[in-house]
Parts: sequence; C-alpha cells; structure tokens
Amino acid sequence: MKSLKAQLHALADPEEELDVLESRHPGGDKANFQHHLDRIGLFPLMPTKLEIFQINMGKMCNQVCKHCHVDAGPDRKEIMTRDTMKLCLDVIQKESSLNCVDLTGGAPEMNPDFRWFVTEIRACRPDIKIIVRCNLTIILANPKFNDLPEFFRENQVEVVSSLPYFSAMKTDAQRGDGVFEKSISALKLLNQVGYGKEGTGLVLNLVYNPSGAFLPGSQHELEMEFKKKLLDKFAVEFNSLFAITNIPISRFLEYLLRSDNFENYMEKLLAAFNPMAALGVMCRNTISIGWDGYLYDCDFNQMLDLKVNVSNSIHLANWDSSALADRSIVINNHCFGCTAGAGSSCGGATS
Ligand code: SF4
Ligand code: SF4
Repeated sequence: MKSLKAQLHALADPEEELDVLESRHPGGDKANFQHHLDRIGLFPLMPTKLEIFQINMGKMCNQVCKHCHVDAGPDRKEIMTRDTMKLCLDVIQKESSLNCVDLTGGAPEMNPDFRWFVTEIRACRPDIKIIVRCNLTIILANPKFNDLPEFFRENQVEVVSSLPYFSAMKTDAQRGDGVFEKSISALKLLNQVGYGKEGTGLVLNLVYNPSGAFLPGSQHELEMEFKKKLLDKFAVEFNSLFAITNIPISRFLEYLLRSDNFENYMEKLLAAFNPMAALGVMCRNTISIGWDGYLYDCDFNQMLDLKVNVSNSIHLANWDSSALADRSIVINNHCFGCTAGAGSSCGGATS
C-alpha cells in the first residue's frame, strides 16, 4: 500500500481516488457497495424516470471550501461554453419528463453566460423548476453580482445555499474566514426581495453538511434549530434545510486520510446502510452534465471521471434518451455516502 504522503499527492487523479476507495475500504470485497445492492435486489442499479438535469457550469469559485467535492476555487479554468449550453437547451426542450434544471459549479454565476443561459431555459420551458446552487458570498463578491437576488426573482429561480452552521466559528472553519458574515448579509438581501418569505413563492433552501467525519443528525431537528437561531439572532428566514452527508471523495477524502479517519468514516457509512435510502438515490432520476458536455450518473461520479455506462451516448452531442434509460448506473464505495441513515442527495435526506 502507498504511503499517506503518496496517496494524498495522487488524489489529484480520479483513478487514484478510486484506488483508495477500493483498496482501503474496511471489510474487504464483501463490504463493497455492489454487494450491498445485490443483497437487497437492487444490483444492477437502474434509472427510474429522468426528472433532474444537473449542470456543472464550471469549476471557478470565489471560495475554496475545505470539503468541496468539486475541488473548486478562483484558479480553476474549466468553464462551460455557450455552445455546450445550447446542447443542454436542446435536451431540456425535447425531454418532457424533465421537471428540474439544477445549476451547480463552482459558483455558476461566475460563468459569463450564466444569465443568458438562465433566461433561455426559462423561455424554452416556462414550467420547469430552475435551481441555482448559490454560495451566497458571490452576491457581495463584486458589484456586478449585487443584483443577483432580483435576477433570480425575475426568472423564478429557486436558490439553494450552503450554510454549515448558524455560527461564524464553525462556518468559517469549513468555508473560509469571513464567509459567515457575508453569507448572513447575502441571505438578508435575498429575504428583502421576498426569498424565504411565506406567500411569495420564492424558495430559499439551505444546505447543512457535517464539519467532520460524522453523519448529519435528523434533518427535521436541524431545520427547526437553524430556523430558530437564524430568525432570533439575525432576522433571517428560509424555507427548508437539506442535511447532506459528506461523500468520501476529493477534498473530503483528503481530509479523511490526513486526519486518519478514512476507515472509521467508511465503517460508519457501512453500518448505517439503509435499503430505503438506496431505493431513492438521486442518480436514478438525474443526469449530471460536466462543464465540457460529458454525461455522468451524478455530480460525485463526475468528479471521479466515471462517465455513464452507455457506449454511444456519453456526451450531450450524442444524446440518446432510450440508451440512457437502459443503462446501469456506475457505482463504487463512495456511494455508501448516499445510502447511510436517512440517505443523502442534493435535495437532502431521501427516506
Ligand atoms: S462554494 Fe461550493 S463550489 Fe465553491 S469551493 Fe465552496 S463548496 Fe466548492
Ligand atoms: S454517489 Fe452517485 S452513483 Fe453513487 S449512489 Fe450516490 S448518486 Fe448514485
């Protein structure tokens, strides 16, 4: 087995990440994810109806969060072009089963064609839900982003934002110095235009993820606690809180290895395997699009460079809905992060 230093160095390479996930997984082969799905009759894992089109608009971000599974930051150059967005629009227009377009990054707003893309999606599918995963601080990062709340409202965009905790200490430790204060200011701006307020129809959801090698607590209880604290201390309102499990890939995997918590964390995920959560994993009704137009079963597989298991349709340019509907979903041991406890997806708990 490679030394810890060699393993950390190699994590820039998805193949090496997969090697760590397979070779250092506690319990050996029998404990692997495929075995667990097989035991409950879910292997091979097949898609259900395609409903969510999740698009990574680029890896550039104004933040460098410790647990970022995208490894995003200000120096990343990967960015979706307008031509690739046009290919996305073709699919959004023709796939009538899609009911949600979920825009992620990096900070999707940093893509120079972000606003053009959102208005085009709204124009071609007035009925569809558009989600923007907004990191909040981007709204204050530059005057050109200050009117994002109004832009979101005009295009009936649902905003989903990470806020690891309702205190500066825990939030800044995970997302960077000063992030909590800026996040609260941005939440107030969103509230001012109606986001998170009852009766406006403007949805503002928050995402909580644990700050260390442990699973999230009850989503309902966390939501109640966040609602009370944010309202009492900062007069901030929001709609729902999604509690998300940290998936053992990218910067979080690096943290697990550095802190000697990898085996311990994987054992926790394994012990909490929940068949109901496995039934509801998000890859079953989602396709994830990379910044360069390649297709993946989910955002996490995208980061591991595990493309969809369809020989003739791995890029938007060769979109083949029948072949994609018949594919088997590509799984590995990071998938235990989606099936532990109440389950975890980009929309929070799944069971
Ligand atoms: S804001 Fe999101 S995309 Fe940006 S570094 Fe943090 S977790 Fe990654
Ligand atoms: S990591 Fe991706 S492929 Fe694996 S179970 Fe979760 S959503 Fe599905």
